[in-house]
Amino acid sequence: MKVAPPLRAQVAAIARQLHAAGWVANHDGNVTARDGTRYLATPTATSKRLIGDRDLIELDAKGAVVGSGKVFGEIGLHLCVYERRPDVGCVVHAHPPYATAIASSRANPIEQPFLAEAVVSLGPKIPKVAYAQPGDAARAALAPWCELVDTVLLGNHGVLAWGADPEQAFLRLELVEHLAKIALAAAPIGGVEPLSPQAIAPLLAARAKANIGRAADRALSTADKLGSPQPVVACAPAPHASVPTVPPGGNRDLASIVRDEIVNALRK
Ligand SMILES: [Zn+2]
Repeated sequence: MKVAPPLRAQVAAIARQLHAAGWVANHDGNVTARDGTRYLATPTATSKRLIGDRDLIELDAKGAVVGSGKVFGEIGLHLCVYERRPDVGCVVHAHPPYATAIASSRANPIEQPFLAEAVVSLGPKIPKVAYAQPGDAARAALAPWCELVDTVLLGNHGVLAWGADPEQAFLRLELVEHLAKIALAAAPIGGVEPLSPQAIAPLLAARAKANIGRAADRALSTADKLGSPQPVVACAPAPHASVPTVPPGGNRDLASIVRDEIVNALRK
């Protein structure tokens, strides 16, 4: 089955966006997308600035090249995600400067959520996977996280993000870089203050109800106990989410939502 042109166009556009955003240099970064039993991948040793629809390589279900072209060396990381996440349709990798600065340092100030939107879009944490040699070692280091989160920092390397489609995967990578920028901006004034577990719980329930990510699936049983989708206190709806949002300081603030959740939990 040939890959549909619109997906080719999307993947090529995302690759060019990585360069336009300043998140890759030289031949850095790569993008893949799944279409049924095949994959589309950016070619190796090519600037993402130059990727067009026809430059993409097709792979079979096992990751072998169909036709001509040479796929990038980090393809194993992408396949590791697809194998464990049937809901994922696209994986994006780049070296965005702020997030990569954190990935290459000893600290990880974005590991614990400090913005409500990030919890709904990315899940309960952004882990840093310890540096491992490219190949089997890197795959083994990444594997335990694939089902738990939707993005990781790759130690001394960069960011890997995945989503249902190219747009969602790109937005997640974009959000990681944005969070990194905020966290580093806050560092001189004491650093970001992580949200409390009590604040995170209803946000994860909202994520589950919105059916975002595999981590959400795991949280669904908790969400069922909580009943209907909980409004999320946020400036804007999370991408692809149908979760209702209320503005900070709006008709329901985070404290009242958490209070209600605690009261509901105590009643059961
Ligand atoms: Zn890389």
